[in-house]
Amino acid sequence: MKPIYMDHSATTRLSDQALEAMLPYFTEEYGNPSAVYEYGKNAKNAVEKCRNRIAKCLGALSTEIYFTSGGTESDNWVIRSICREKREKGKHIISTEIEHNAVRRTLEQMEEDGFEVTYLKPDARGQITPEQLEEAIREDTILITIMYANNVVGTILDIPALSAVARKHRILFHTDAVQAVGHIPINVRKLGVDFLSVSAHKFNGPKGVGILFCKIPYRIKPLLTGGGQEKEYRSGTENVPGIVGMTVALEEHMAHLEENTEYLTRMRDHLIREVGAIPGVHLTGDPEHRLPGFCSFVMEGISHSVLLVNKLNEMGICVSSGSACSASSKEASHVLLALGYEKQLASASLRVTLGMDNTEEDVETAIQAIRTALDVLRNEQASRPPRLEGRVAEMAGERD
Ligand code: PLP
Repeated sequence: MKPIYMDHSATTRLSDQALEAMLPYFTEEYGNPSAVYEYGKNAKNAVEKCRNRIAKCLGALSTEIYFTSGGTESDNWVIRSICREKREKGKHIISTEIEHNAVRRTLEQMEEDGFEVTYLKPDARGQITPEQLEEAIREDTILITIMYANNVVGTILDIPALSAVARKHRILFHTDAVQAVGHIPINVRKLGVDFLSVSAHKFNGPKGVGILFCKIPYRIKPLLTGGGQEKEYRSGTENVPGIVGMTVALEEHMAHLEENTEYLTRMRDHLIREVGAIPGVHLTGDPEHRLPGFCSFVMEGISHSVLLVNKLNEMGICVSSGSACSASSKEASHVLLALGYEKQLASASLRVTLGMDNTEEDVETAIQAIRTALDVLRNEQASRPPRLEGRVAEMAGERD
């Protein structure tokens, strides 16, 4: 039987409409958008039409939309370029303890280059308050970067309230909205952000393509230099099929947002109720402000999430852990540690993220499988301490 895929915050299946729209740009309309002849012009037209359509989806102007290779590039672009540009003005950045590695690792490099980063500590639900942010602001703060929705626990942060603090102090505000776009209403003006990162493969678009929204009149310095594409701001031949597919996928999501949210939230809440009722299982993240299809737990009596994820995989359920997969509790999910879970629990997490392909029967099957897998593992562990090293080393790290 085909495995049941429930790891939609890692990535999603390309939508049929997106694929169909992309295909001609691989075969017939394969021109380089920079070329002057027909093939080139057609490709260029397609890219510019997409820019307009994407801008509409995000409530932005088309001149504020830049195409990138995905969330990682968009995050890197903002942080690296602002640091380079503003280093004379100040060397202080504010972020949080729960950012994705695309932001975290980049900030670490900035610290090596002499910048100072304040990492705000979230509460137990993964929320940061405007007061906390205000308190951390200094004379020399040049950038605030706080994610919109968290990829480990699914918490949606109050970006309008946080960006208002940044505006009051005239500090640039970036949000990594990779987990949010396509899944909750998005309007860059209502969010009040200067920069916003997007990745297509999180909303049934293709992999390797994304967006950076950059509010006018601010003009971000390029990260990638070369042929001068994207009006000199982002060099590199445009990923035309990717941009086309991303646009179609985003429009589809925005057009069906209400019914998708209703469907996913109903299934999510049922799963949270059933799995959360298993003794020793605790929901993580914000029970109220969470992504529609996002369920996340920590589990007592399991030495490491990898064992549970592997067991569920054997049972035909594709889910993930919220933690960096490592035998060492030291490397438990930085997000769960930041939320205050002790190392053992932070290493025993489970993330089930639902998508529109999932059915109610899938959810029932998954609930039953989680119950069984937990029983089996807890019994095994009660009778024999697990030898983790070999198995967990094979697992990929925290990437999504
Ligand atoms: N930021 C967040 C919150 C993510 O979940 C991801 C996903 O992997 C990324 C950034 C990186 O995006 P991409 O895979 O497009 O590079």
